[in-house]
Amino acid sequence: MAKSPEVKVAVFGRAGVGKSALVVRLLTNRFIWEYDPTLESTYRHQANIDDEMVSMEILDTAGQEDLLQKEGHMRWGDGFVLVYDITDRSSFEDVAPLRSLLEEVRKPRHVPLVLVGNKADLEHARQVATEEGERLAADMACAFYECSACAGTAGTVGTAAGTVAEAFHELCREVRRR
Ligand code: GDP
Ligand code: MG
Repeated sequence: MAKSPEVKVAVFGRAGVGKSALVVRLLTNRFIWEYDPTLESTYRHQANIDDEMVSMEILDTAGQEDLLQKEGHMRWGDGFVLVYDITDRSSFEDVAPLRSLLEEVRKPRHVPLVLVGNKADLEHARQVATEEGERLAADMACAFYECSACAGTAGTVGTAAGTVAEAFHELCREVRRR
């Protein structure tokens, strides 16, 4: 049997947007409320994507790296999940500069990415409209998901948590298309 393809995924976004919670959700189907915000970890995850087993190596960045570290992570990854928090406009405003840096570091290559608006369960505190996320994703020519690391059941398509897996899977597809 052929060796399953490997995809290196780096998760970026301001500290506190829920990067660790999303990764833990993807891996364990659990939500962990408190997670050391300064921690940077890599995880291995296997998933069946379109009838093929794909091995992901996932880098959960801390979101407070200096430029040099950030650039290193950007060189390491094959694909990138850019996360913001729908209840924190400034985290949304961080996305475009991240994307610019990615383009700069990776040029002239195409940069596979997906945009994720997390904490969709906190509708009452929303600061970023769904349409704004959609527009930004259209500008960046990437897929867009609103999701929640803590609501619903991961793996159940159509729920906010099911969307977490969808986002990572779509990123793997995008990487493998190139
Ligand atoms: P990181 O710094 O981006 O890794 O963010 P964390 O994963 O550490 O999450 C930061 C805070 O947001 C923690 O208190 C989490 O419990 C909370 N959090 C993460 N994801 C969600 C979510 O989808 N919904 C809600 N309500 N809280 C979340
Ligand atoms: Mg974290």
